[in-house]
Amino acid sequence: MTEPVLMWFRTDLRIHDNPALHAAAQQGRPVVAIVFETHHQWARHGIGPRKINLMRAAMASLHDSLAARNIPLLIETVADFEASRQRIAHWLQALGARQLFFNNEYEVNERRRDIMVCRDAAAQGVDVQRFHDQCLLAPGSVNNKAGLPFRVYTPFRKAWMADAGPALTAPLPAPAVQAPFEWPDHLLMPVSSVAEPNVDPLWSASEDDAHQQLQEFIDERARQYHQERDFPGLDSTSRLSVPLSLGLLSPRQCLYAAVRFNDGRLDGGRSGFQTWINELVWREFYRHLLVAFPELCKHRAFKPETEVIRWRHAPDEFAAWCEGRTGYPIVDAAQQQLLQEGWMHNRLRMISAMFLTKHLLIDWRQGEAFFNQYLLDADLASNNGGWQWSASTGADGAPWFRIFNPLLQSRKFDATGEFIARFVPALASLPPDSRHEPDGLQRRRCGYPTAIVEHSFGRQRALDAFGVLGKPV
Ligand code: FAD
Repeated sequence: MTEPVLMWFRTDLRIHDNPALHAAAQQGRPVVAIVFETHHQWARHGIGPRKINLMRAAMASLHDSLAARNIPLLIETVADFEASRQRIAHWLQALGARQLFFNNEYEVNERRRDIMVCRDAAAQGVDVQRFHDQCLLAPGSVNNKAGLPFRVYTPFRKAWMADAGPALTAPLPAPAVQAPFEWPDHLLMPVSSVAEPNVDPLWSASEDDAHQQLQEFIDERARQYHQERDFPGLDSTSRLSVPLSLGLLSPRQCLYAAVRFNDGRLDGGRSGFQTWINELVWREFYRHLLVAFPELCKHRAFKPETEVIRWRHAPDEFAAWCEGRTGYPIVDAAQQQLLQEGWMHNRLRMISAMFLTKHLLIDWRQGEAFFNQYLLDADLASNNGGWQWSASTGADGAPWFRIFNPLLQSRKFDATGEFIARFVPALASLPPDSRHEPDGLQRRRCGYPTAIVEHSFGRQRALDAFGVLGKPV
């Protein structure tokens, strides 16, 4: 038999613009691919069943795309990272593979696992080739003049822009059809567990659909993005966070498409494209932070001095927030969107997260864990970054006394109250202006709860609690 090379898929469940897969397919040898379902690990990380379902569907879809190129994909269920490490060593040995390919993951445990895998491979005489695909610029490569990582977005963005232009080459093609791998007689051909997962009613797990979604956004919505992106009632953002988090799409594909339609410009150009590109740079920023400050993976505050804040232990209020029963229609509608769609609009994530951490003074880590469980785009770097930004414990230039007023936010960004009516149908019968803050009688009539906390009281309580930090630096 011709020994194959082994390609290990992780959060890169795609065949296009996949640098590790591309390199593996260039070796002139058959490619065998593997991916693991690490159910215990997922449970320990609090990933919800809907996301697991979607990941499994994405693996099944990948299986078919690879099969069409004569690349078998082994889908193995293992308990945890230790078991996946052992299975990699097993398959390298059993197949006689001398090369292992994968794209890097950046979370602490994943990095630790990969160090061990590389050690095992070296002991087996296997060459490991690793690639960066989750960011356009590899974490650790964008630093200030002192060679230190940036702690604030704006200077990071400037430095990123300076290097990103030359790095933004065309996305890699999918591998060509390979010479078929002849499964050796002494090895039983494993049956991959491509059990048909339930199809999500709202989200696709197919790479082709992700490409189409990107193209539709670029064609139809990107131009107005800067004007419309903050209004949750408009379908104005890309919703690509879900395919990005599964790795159905790469940031390079997104950036490359945006730049092509922005007259070749990564920085500047049309406002809609520029604003959208900036959001992708936020995504990069949070990944770079995660690598530079690995304690973020342990959910420590980015600003350690904020660990002195005395968060309230209020399980009933937390449950009301989770279930969308706070009596603040915009917050409740946001939470309902999360529960129903597995996704929440960015403006609402900020409103809801700030409400939990400031008005209810509940630890951002509780909110982070809840989002992680229900968001289909759940991603440690961006979720942690977003929560710490909202709670003023993170990488944010704004001072801690910036506290959104949820009622003003509601009137500004859902002026017609249509979004509220969609997700809190009990309030749909009210005139649009009353949906933001129904009076007592309206609440009783609609069976809608009274506000869990009075705005100015909650605001003052947060200011008092954060006051221990002294003047913001
Ligand atoms: P678009 O507006 O179309 O933006 C394009 C892409 O840019 C997104 O798909 C996303 O990859 C990236 N992006 C946009 N905004 C941000 C941002 N503020 N930070 C980082 N990347 C961004 N994003 C996640 O992908 N996963 C999370 O778990 C997550 N948790 C969050 C939690 C909180 C409390 C907050 C405030 C934000 C969180 N975000 C998270 C960031 C942001 O809300 C989502 O990326 C965005 O709403 C996804 O919708 P979209 O794809 O339509 O975005």
